[in-house]
Amino acid sequence: MLNRGKVFVVSGPSGAGKTTILTRFLKEDKNSAFSVSYTTRQKREGEREGIDYHFVTRSTFEELIRKGFFLEWEEVHGEMYGTPKEPLLEMIEKGIDVFMDLDVNGAMKIKRVFPQAILIFIQPPSEEELIMRLKNRKEKAIIKRLERLRKELEAKRFFDYVIINDSIEKALSEFKNIVEEVRSCHGKNNG
Ligand code: 5GP
Repeated sequence: MLNRGKVFVVSGPSGAGKTTILTRFLKEDKNSAFSVSYTTRQKREGEREGIDYHFVTRSTFEELIRKGFFLEWEEVHGEMYGTPKEPLLEMIEKGIDVFMDLDVNGAMKIKRVFPQAILIFIQPPSEEELIMRLKNRKEKAIIKRLERLRKELEAKRFFDYVIINDSIEKALSEFKNIVEEVRSCHGKNNG
């Protein structure tokens, strides 16, 4: 019997470094895939349709909700974000480990659907550092993002692992160690 893929959910405040860690990890790690979400937010410079996100209008997103297309969805910073169900289930069935970048509410929902899912929280070293990162990214909704910060930090206690990203190399190496540990410890057929 084919081993089922595992589900890893990465969460944390915007600017904590989730995307950098995931992109670098997935580039090297074979037999893993990124769960590409749908969103109504504007594409940022360098982002690619179908790779970083599927960018859709609000009416398309609402239609997809009605059709039951999403495994979970959330409104974050005034924009909609959702995980499509089918690709995720297909990858797991094929034995591919799936990595998701979700807000903390999305992470909790996934844990309810897949109790074996591993939740990893990426934390920026300080609020000052986070503000600097968001400014560097020319992020418009800095205030909204900071307002969410406290809520996200509170949810941290529900996570299986917390990585403090004060150095990207160190954080990436911790991330790899966690994935390896999970892959070797969890029973092969535990999902
Ligand atoms: P950003 O706009 O910075 O790409 O993402 C904003 C927030 O939405 C981040 O916390 C990110 O993890 C979260 N997010 C991205 N895709 C999804 C999704 O499909 N579902 C949920 N619940 N959150 C998502």
